[in-house]
Amino acid sequence: MKPDDAHGRSLDEPALFERGSSGRRGYTLPPLSAPERGVESLPAELCREDLPDFPELSEMEVLRHFLRLSQWNFSAATNFYPLGSCTMKYNPVLNERMARLGGFADLHPLTPPGAAQGALELMAELERLLAELSGMDAVSLQPAAGAHGELAGMKMIRAHHLDHGNPRRKVLIPRSAHGTNPASSALCGYQVVAVESNDRGMIDPAAVARLTDGETAAIMVTNPNTLGLFEKDIVRIAAAVHEKGGLVYLDGANMNALLGVAKPGHMGADVLQFNLHKTFSTPHGGGGPGAGPIAVRQRLADYLPVPRVVRAGGGYALSEEYAKSIGRVRAFYGNFGMLVRAYAYLLSLGGDGLRRATQMAILNANYVRKRLEDVLEIAYAEPCLHECVFSDSKLQPLGVKTLDLAKRLLDYGFYAPTIYFPLIVSGAIMIEPTESETRETLDEFIAAVRAIVAEAKEAPERVKSAPHTTRVSRLDEVRAARQPRLRWKP
Ligand SMILES: *Cc1c(COP(=O)(O)O)cnc(C)c1O
Repeated sequence: MKPDDAHGRSLDEPALFERGSSGRRGYTLPPLSAPERGVESLPAELCREDLPDFPELSEMEVLRHFLRLSQWNFSAATNFYPLGSCTMKYNPVLNERMARLGGFADLHPLTPPGAAQGALELMAELERLLAELSGMDAVSLQPAAGAHGELAGMKMIRAHHLDHGNPRRKVLIPRSAHGTNPASSALCGYQVVAVESNDRGMIDPAAVARLTDGETAAIMVTNPNTLGLFEKDIVRIAAAVHEKGGLVYLDGANMNALLGVAKPGHMGADVLQFNLHKTFSTPHGGGGPGAGPIAVRQRLADYLPVPRVVRAGGGYALSEEYAKSIGRVRAFYGNFGMLVRAYAYLLSLGGDGLRRATQMAILNANYVRKRLEDVLEIAYAEPCLHECVFSDSKLQPLGVKTLDLAKRLLDYGFYAPTIYFPLIVSGAIMIEPTESETRETLDEFIAAVRAIVAEAKEAPERVKSAPHTTRVSRLDEVRAARQPRLRWKP
């Protein structure tokens, strides 16, 4: 422990294996009142030869250790988190309370439907609301993440084409797309054909028409796209693909810019996924659990995953009787706790509240865009929707990179924006403030970015060696990925 370390004890936490003392216990049991039976009575193959070298600690030491570690968390609940594309909005405490209600939280997944009517009704109602919000006809709540929803959606597209005699070979995907789009297509056996963006950062319906033929299974399009721009020709783009018998997959990760204002079902989408952990304020978790429900137009409804929630005899039941279904994509019915949270969010905001949230998300992003566009170069000079994307062209002459700006922001107590994505923008800086933030927070963030750009002119080394106040500074990220050290002992 270093006494002059600004953070003191709380950021200098050894591993449990480095602590403790032989024979120390968390608790002790009273002496046995029954005759003791030794391990001799157990099958030998189940017994260890040597005891592992576990640390021996008091209960208090263990509690403090994990509580301190939990305080190293950086979250939307502690600080501003403008991570573009990820919609790190506030997760209302009300949702948490609803998800913890005993009737939901303690419900066993194998409970017979007759004894789980409330949960099934919640699922049916959530499906109905998601269909209504997206202008689609049917929904499955099973997929566990956005990417998982994409995979399920693309499998349905493949099943549809197979049913019509030819699975087809190609999927069109804009160069600005999220990496999961080509990955989901490839996993379904499709060859990806890239669509270039035009000089306004959008896709051109004429380019789509040129690339589409009888072997095009679908286009995967994100709207608003990953530049935060509305694809204003989406209806013509969808028509060009439909004309050749292809389908339109709409990546719904950016629904936070559309809820209560516009519906993908009116734009020609045949299938889309929702990211409940983005748009519907459920937690992102450390990579999970999330939820990526899919919504489809009638022509794809038969292919939805089973089981499906159906009305039966005045109540609800689960049905597997869909011969064309792609089958199960998740154990049981998906991440049910997330569904409860999303449903609570929808009911607590209501239609007007959702529209207002969308408008505030768009206003906040445009506020940041306008207040920073003189110090950072906006990638495409268009009003944005829920996020704005800058390039590094004003940083480059200062000898400072996007990464340096991102790292220096950590010293100001902000999470860094998404960087180097989308790939079509040089040194992209993608800022998504969400509707949750106050003007004061946005002003502090804007002031921090401006201060860093000014610092880059005066003392670029200070920016390039940031962060200076975090537990660790620059990490060798390549080595961490290539040679991960997963054991405590080398
Ligand atoms: C987040 C995101 C995805 C993937 O969603 P996950 O829930 O992270 O799997 C797909 N597309 C876009 C545009 C996204 O922002």
